[in-house]
Amino acid sequence: MQIQASGPEPKAVQTLTGPCTQCREIKEKRWEAVRQGNTHLAEATTVAMGQHLRAEHS
Ligand SMILES: [Zn+2]
Repeated sequence: MQIQASGPEPKAVQTLTGPCTQCREIKEKRWEAVRQGNTHLAEATTVAMGQHLRAEHS
């Protein structure tokens, strides 16, 4: 197993170990919206998730 030392990349580590705090918050909001049958809010959180992934995890 090789260890790649290409500098400190906390964001890359976060994507490997799991979703970040914001990811979890958005997912929880989406689940709550789905549970309440609020499709409009569910769609909004899906869009927010896509924007967050592009901004923070690309
Ligand atoms: Zn995230």
